[in-house]
Amino acid sequence: MSSTYPEAGELSATRPVQVGATCFGGTRFVVVAGPCAVETQEQLVTIARHVRAHGAAALRGGVFKMRTDPRSFQGLGAQALPYLDAVRRETGLPFIVEITAADQVGTFAGHVDALQVGSRNMYNSHLLKELGRTRTPILLKRGFAAQLKEWLLAADYVLAGGNEEIILCERGIRTFEDQTRNTLDLAGAVWARQHAPFPVIVDPSHATGRPELIGPMCLAAAAAGLDGLLLEVHNEPTRALADGFQALTLDRFSRITTALSPVLNAVGRSL
Ligand code: PEP
Ligand code: MN
Repeated sequence: MSSTYPEAGELSATRPVQVGATCFGGTRFVVVAGPCAVETQEQLVTIARHVRAHGAAALRGGVFKMRTDPRSFQGLGAQALPYLDAVRRETGLPFIVEITAADQVGTFAGHVDALQVGSRNMYNSHLLKELGRTRTPILLKRGFAAQLKEWLLAADYVLAGGNEEIILCERGIRTFEDQTRNTLDLAGAVWARQHAPFPVIVDPSHATGRPELIGPMCLAAAAAGLDGLLLEVHNEPTRALADGFQALTLDRFSRITTALSPVLNAVGRSL
């Protein structure tokens, strides 16, 4: 980075992670965007086209949803595979999908570009060991009650198997505060960036649960020198099958990426 802010040496040198054509931890600030849950091919393609046109460099979309309420939508599972194939083909963007059990790894590894470990599975050492045996990049979310050192130890499980392609994602932790869905630990994200060689991105969607707070937190993450964002976006949030309340509309998404430009410019980065 050519900029003088953050001060040289404040953030450790990251080992860049290549996910398809997109590099995390390099000079580009990587915006990963897409719906909470994949619902239909049309929904996924509509969102993907828009976010690609407005700065996203990778796509997301859950197919195994670990919902609190067993009656709520659980995701399409392997039925979504043709949709993921189609959207990758059309946009050329890499796709990141969350897997929730070791037996899903083989099915999905050939169809996606990175595998996500969700907050609820950060402590699932059997899953982490299985992912350590692959050479697929891993997006490791912080457990919502995990200490920073526990998060890095979870990454060590993946590393121990020989897989060094790890990206960390701060997604908010549970605190006494109930005006936001979780509490975004931005300092913790920077701490992780200073104490580990992995790129660190921030998920202000799950961290705040409030669309109106997501934009300011995106700007803060960019200004702090972090490596990217994970954002939930929906073409019709009121009809979304999961997390519609926190979904960015297409329009709000593009306003955020526009607002990011001058901040990224100030820290020597770009979308
Ligand atoms: C997600 O990103 O789809 C998700 C379920 O988030 P988390 O694991 O952070 O709750
Ligand atoms: Mn979600």
